[in-house]
Amino acid sequence: MKKWDATKAKVKKQQQEDLKDPYLSAIEFKDPSICSKCRSVYHNKRWVKDEELYKNLMKNPDKVVFTVCPACQKIETGYMEGDVELKGDFLFKHKDEIVNLIKNTAEKANYINPLERIEKINIDEENKTIEIITADDKLAQRIGKNIERAYKGTIEYSFSKEDKMTRVYWKR
Ligand SMILES: [Zn+2]
Repeated sequence: MKKWDATKAKVKKQQQEDLKDPYLSAIEFKDPSICSKCRSVYHNKRWVKDEELYKNLMKNPDKVVFTVCPACQKIETGYMEGDVELKGDFLFKHKDEIVNLIKNTAEKANYINPLERIEKINIDEENKTIEIITADDKLAQRIGKNIERAYKGTIEYSFSKEDKMTRVYWKR
């Protein structure tokens, strides 16, 4: 998967200063905006998943700006901030259970912050690895923490300040 770099030069300086998400800081969203892909709503300076609010806004669609939220943009362009790598025999014995835990973690996080989203889960039966690509770095950390809490094992985190990237390695 390629990292998003279309406007890398433009956002690089900003990232070094405050490590902000380029997709959040590069675009100014109007309030209210609705993501036409996932129905997330931009309101009070943040993206929320709120069906009520969405329905209310849709009563007057003329007053709404339709756009694509940062998470959907990231998924479209293949930009990623988190990479979780799981490995081991134990993992494959409990594969379905662990994949469920990962999906539940993402679902809960996504409810609070719609920008925390899984882009892809790659299951490699042959090498006994599962890789989870996330649009947001915090979600990768959350997944790692939850797996360690539930199944112990060994875990390692690596953070790259350069490109706001979190990698998590877990093995059991
Ligand atoms: Zn969206």
